[in-house]
Amino acid sequence: MDKKPLHNNRTKKPTNKGMKNAGFIAILVLVALVVLAASNQPSQLKSIPITEAVQQSNKGAYSKIEVQNNELKITKKGEAKPTLKSYLEPNATMKDEGFDYSKVTIDPKAQNNGQSGWVAIATTIVPVVLIGGLLYFMLRSAQGQGNQAMSFGKSKARLYGNEKDKVEFKDVAGQAEAKQDLEEVVEFLKFPKKFSSVGARIPKGVLLVGPPGTGKTLLSRAVAGEANVPFFSISGSEFVEMFVGVGASRVRDLFAKAKKNAPCIIFIDEIDAVGRRRGSGMGGGHDEREQTLNQILVEMDGFEKGENVIVLAATNRADVLDPALLRPGRFDRRVGIGLPDRQDRAAILKVHFEKKPLAKEVDIDSLAAKTAGSSGADLANIANESAIIAARNNHSQIAQSDVTEAFERVAIGPERKNKIMNEKEKEITAYHEAGHAIVGHVLPDSDPVHKVTIIPRGGTGGVTWFLPPEDRSYTSIIEFKDILARALGGRIAEEVIFGKERVTTGAGNDLQKAAEIARDMVINQGMGTKLRDQVFHVDEGIMMERIMHEREYSDETAKVIDDEVETLITEAADRARAVIKANLKKIEELKDKLLENETVEADEVIKIFEGTVMPKSAALY
Ligand code: ADP
Ligand code: MG
Ligand code: ZN
Repeated sequence: MDKKPLHNNRTKKPTNKGMKNAGFIAILVLVALVVLAASNQPSQLKSIPITEAVQQSNKGAYSKIEVQNNELKITKKGEAKPTLKSYLEPNATMKDEGFDYSKVTIDPKAQNNGQSGWVAIATTIVPVVLIGGLLYFMLRSAQGQGNQAMSFGKSKARLYGNEKDKVEFKDVAGQAEAKQDLEEVVEFLKFPKKFSSVGARIPKGVLLVGPPGTGKTLLSRAVAGEANVPFFSISGSEFVEMFVGVGASRVRDLFAKAKKNAPCIIFIDEIDAVGRRRGSGMGGGHDEREQTLNQILVEMDGFEKGENVIVLAATNRADVLDPALLRPGRFDRRVGIGLPDRQDRAAILKVHFEKKPLAKEVDIDSLAAKTAGSSGADLANIANESAIIAARNNHSQIAQSDVTEAFERVAIGPERKNKIMNEKEKEITAYHEAGHAIVGHVLPDSDPVHKVTIIPRGGTGGVTWFLPPEDRSYTSIIEFKDILARALGGRIAEEVIFGKERVTTGAGNDLQKAAEIARDMVINQGMGTKLRDQVFHVDEGIMMERIMHEREYSDETAKVIDDEVETLITEAADRARAVIKANLKKIEELKDKLLENETVEADEVIKIFEGTVMPKSAALY
């Protein structure tokens, strides 16, 4: 079969080219300015970690620190000019980092030092003007309905297919089943005759369904890369714009262009943005959306025999899609894409660490084991954060410690080492976390403790981590109950140690999580006591309609559900209380260790907890 060379697919409208040139020149000017600004910087400073800077500064080793945004220029005592630099953590102030203001002169207003006036003006004003100009052009092309020259801009579809950003199946780790399904699509595109000669109808639409970040977009591009055909990509949300009638005409335009370039792939990302069930009458502007969706249906029906265009679409909400989209002849194939299992996670991590300098000691497999529930995008993020952290620590290779920090940062947010907590709060937090840890440790069906820390992270005062020893897909009632009890362990420890009325807001988030789990058990999983094996789940797709008409269950049932939730929570609190009261000595021990070291790792927790007691009253069986 002959294939048209790709560059023929590009439109050759002169104005379009002119636009491109203008953009190109704008970028050149920007680059020149950046280079100019960079060359204007004072001579090279040695970069040191922020923790070292704080330590040295508080020892009195520095005379002056200039602060510019989050960059510190440090002048040592006895020297005239800055010789060191360091960086504040994002959003942290000098105080947060722990600088002692009495030991050093801090000069916060050293902006633009050493920059001549016109460079400062050029580097601030010119980009603003350029960006403004570009925006103006973009707006004009978006509105340029009647404008002949802008016809390519009409459907904002992007065309991939040039060699340098080509994606192939080998770039997608794991997902063996999805790949297998999609390989068939590749065959359709490559050898259409083989199928039509035996009378097979080539599917027009393939719907990729899976949680966010699992590689749906990546896989679609890989299909195009494997089949070596052009790939028109558009996101559902781009259809839905302010101007009435634009969505439908964009669809028409997109399909017309695709037909001209057949064989090819049209990829509609986030199709739920336009493909939601019609006629619910809620959510403003649905008229526009319905027209767009109708146009998609019309176009897909309008494909003629032998027109070799396949429409791939991706969504993480297949349940809200309009049934008309899923009828035969439209998106009648569905490829499910799930969260990666342990092996796949290791493979994805390897793909993303491949091009980075990784120390030999780094244990990818144990990282894969710890990241149950993460999507491919999360894992890619961990790999990238590892590299950033390694660079900030001035490591030439990514070390195990960098990877561990990256994992924790992605999982619960960065450490806030210098957020001020007074001694009393530290003590409360230590008891609180020790409470979570002991309940989780003692109850037989809870996951093992991984780490306990009273260093604030993200929005929390401290963290107790539990890690499942292996991936699992199902959770039993006894496991849920242990999870509930350990979630309440923090609050109950405060209660037992300090008294009923002295518990703090430190447990706010725990209680919310516990309530969510308990409701889920009762409503969705049929795990209540009275309401065992009944499910009251409302499909969110039709939720909108339901809200207006009726609920799935009666008011009496709603009351019973509330009672069930309360029973579960009370039981969990009682069990946590029993465990904590039976092991007060151990809690004291862990609390002391936490106050001393702030973080206690799994092996040490286990050592401290040797000889804990499982009280009878906390046992479920
Ligand atoms: P989705 O479209 O499902 O939300 P994406 O395809 O945009 O997810 O994936 C986001 C990023 O996550 C990708 O660019 C890639 O870096 C990474 N990723 C996800 N899944 C995989 C995988 N199976 N193999 C390699 N990288 C992956
Ligand atoms: Mg996507
Ligand atoms: Zn807690």
